[in-house]
Amino acid sequence: MSATLVSNLGWYPASWRRFPANQMPSYGEPEQLKSVEARLEAAAPVIAFQDAQRLRQAMAGLAEGRGFLLQGGDCAESFDDPVAEQVSGIVGLFEEMAAKIRPAVNGPLIEVARIAGQFAKPRSAQTETHEGETLPAYRGDIVNGTSFDALSRRADPQRMIRAHMQSVGTAASLAAARGSDPPIFTSHEALLLPYEEPLTRRDPAGRWWATSGHMLWLGDRTRQVDGAHVEYLRGIENVVGVKCGPSLQPEELCRLIDRLDPVGSPGKLVLIGRFGAKKIRQLLPPLMRAAKDRPVVWTIDPMHGNTSMTGKRKVRRLPDILAEIDAFFAIAQAEGVHGGGVHLEMSALDVTECIGGRGPASIAELDKNWLTACDPRLNRAQAIDLAAHIAALMA
Ligand code: PEP
Ligand code: MN
Repeated sequence: MSATLVSNLGWYPASWRRFPANQMPSYGEPEQLKSVEARLEAAAPVIAFQDAQRLRQAMAGLAEGRGFLLQGGDCAESFDDPVAEQVSGIVGLFEEMAAKIRPAVNGPLIEVARIAGQFAKPRSAQTETHEGETLPAYRGDIVNGTSFDALSRRADPQRMIRAHMQSVGTAASLAAARGSDPPIFTSHEALLLPYEEPLTRRDPAGRWWATSGHMLWLGDRTRQVDGAHVEYLRGIENVVGVKCGPSLQPEELCRLIDRLDPVGSPGKLVLIGRFGAKKIRQLLPPLMRAAKDRPVVWTIDPMHGNTSMTGKRKVRRLPDILAEIDAFFAIAQAEGVHGGGVHLEMSALDVTECIGGRGPASIAELDKNWLTACDPRLNRAQAIDLAAHIAALMA
């Protein structure tokens, strides 16, 4: 029996149901939910487990200090996305960014998009109030709708079917757009467990894979060591990302690693720091020291820790984003850790969602082309400039 099978004793795709789950929608009709889950269980996988296995192998090299992970895409995909255009846009953007970064990397560049399943969103506030009316928060198109009315904010299990169909189509166009070698892998936050569970499939060797995407990550709001999301993720063979936010304590990180990767498989875990430019210098070094003897990959998400609110709008500024990236590479070098990659929210379009650089100059300009379904993304020019900035840091 392989080490992996021993390590996930007591686990099965539904074992998360025995643990408290944060950020889960409450579905009105249990019968409808059950029938959707049954349909997903019989549905086609979004990705082939052999490709998820390829990503595991690639990531193992990164854990040994060779290569770089470029991960990015929308904060949230939408049912209104024009899929073919979306895919060719992101493929083109990855190519332009890779052209900047690749020459500076010692080893392979691993490309992973937030796509073909990035539909579920965790929310800080469970409800939203407008002119005296309070409704459930929008949780992503896989759960409910954006418009502020009771019907569209109702959690509808049928949306999982639609998300799955769109993801299958998106993953297929992504594979066709790029040919097979080297692929752009898919990823999303493993948040909506009633969607993930029925798409969890067994390979001929008896190992379990999430077939909803090549890489899944644990969000900063659902990383409770004894919670349902950690329980689900500990049993699958896919590369698993862990968002590491400001409240994560070093001993907590060690317990998370013990739970998610008890056997210490190189590249199984990607730790994604997201502290904010002001906090990273204080918070990241103790975490890197705590994980020093573990075969993990460290990357930086410079988006989520650098977000502030002005009125109803989330504001992100390019100088803060670049400052957190700079600090990440400086800290990694000082700690003797490989600065393994970046995790970005970005669009191939000329959106006006983040302030600075070749984007809007001020808050007043954000309205010009604000298209995101959730968080503000770098636009194409900002993303390419950021790639050049990273290349210069690594050179
Ligand atoms: C995200 O990546 O869109 C997200 C919600 O991140 P985090 O869990 O780090 O806040
Ligand atoms: Mn986001």
